[in-house]
Amino acid sequence: MIDAAERKMRFLYALRSSGVTEARVLSAMEKIDRGAFIRGTFADKAYEDMPLPIACGQTISQPSVVGLMTQALELGSRDKVLEVGTGSGYQAAVLSQLCRRVYTIDRHRRLVREAEAVFRALDLSNITAMTADGSFGLPEQAPFDRILVTAAAEDPPGPLLAQLRIGGIMVLPVGQSGAVQTLLQVRKSEHGLDYNELRPVRFVPLVEGLAQE
Ligand code: SAH
Repeated sequence: MIDAAERKMRFLYALRSSGVTEARVLSAMEKIDRGAFIRGTFADKAYEDMPLPIACGQTISQPSVVGLMTQALELGSRDKVLEVGTGSGYQAAVLSQLCRRVYTIDRHRRLVREAEAVFRALDLSNITAMTADGSFGLPEQAPFDRILVTAAAEDPPGPLLAQLRIGGIMVLPVGQSGAVQTLLQVRKSEHGLDYNELRPVRFVPLVEGLAQE
């Protein structure tokens, strides 16, 4: 049996060895307890560097991938961020430590409700969670300084690119579902879009329309 301090040390060590080296990102991930976002049989694996199943047949991403995506967003403390794919709410909670406001949306009402309960319990008051089809973004709050998509599309969705402000950064996995996808960092400037391929990843697919529950 290992104690909580040892568990945390191993968790942070796994992040660093995967390339999560930015101090601010590491301290946000030290502060946000991943265990609070996982229920049931997998709760005892919360501090291991692996993706885990959550409700509605979805997954909470691997902590090192959460860290690398957060780092790739190059967040500023005044940023307004959109996350597509709330899932457990863990990634949104990590983002909330590093920016001004996070809007997070998911097509599953149940996941949004459960994530909101955790945000309240942890007193994370700068996150707004909503049920919506993320392929269309959140036009009423656009433009965003940063956009993170945590489900894979074949190409970056046009409405999301349109809702990114000039000078903004979007991070997202692209590729076919069930296959290895590529994590992309997209920078938007006055001259257009600049694409940077970061690493291979595997995400659940971005699905059209709202879910039944
Ligand atoms: N970021 C999450 C993991 C997300 S898993 C976490 O930290 O736990 C991907 C999520 O994307 C799933 O919850 C799925 O329901 C959601 N999703 C898939 N297609 C979507 C769409 N079109 N709009 C909004 N959410 C979508």
